Amino acid sequence: MSYDSSNIFAKILRGEIPCHKVYEDADAIVFMDVMPQSAGHTLVVPKAPSRNLLDADPAVLAKVIPLVQKVAVAAKAAFNADGVSIAQFNEPAGGQTVFHLHFHIMPRYDGQPLQLHARKMEDSAVLAANAEKLKAALA
Ligand code: 5GP
Repeated sequence: MSYDSSNIFAKILRGEIPCHKVYEDADAIVFMDVMPQSAGHTLVVPKAPSRNLLDADPAVLAKVIPLVQKVAVAAKAAFNADGVSIAQFNEPAGGQTVFHLHFHIMPRYDGQPLQLHARKMEDSAVLAANAEKLKAALA
């Protein structure tokens, strides 16, 4: 399967649809997941087009992983989490639903299981407030 630039994250990267943006640089954008699996669920999305990890340029991965770490550390602090799960899915059989490489940063709370994947839309006001909290922790 090849990269299809009509995917929803490519549209966000082109500014065609909105997102609750936390951070952006020349190589990546960070925004809140609209159907969070935990409070503060955030996505780190490299700008370079690839479907997923399997076809990604290793140079892109080398740049994005330090950002994944930075956002994970900030998210744990911003959302008073006890831990953080990082996820990255490849192809439908691997659980992937949006076919532009991204990393899930999911703050975890003792005794609380994750919500189902890509199932329940969060209120825009909650996402906006969480984006502000994470921005402040990253600053
Ligand atoms: P995947 O299954 O591809 O690893 O994850 C895709 C993620 O994107 C899911 O967690 C889903 O909730 C999220 N998502 C789907 N559509 C949108 C959208 O339009 N905006 C944002 N911010 N997240 C989305």
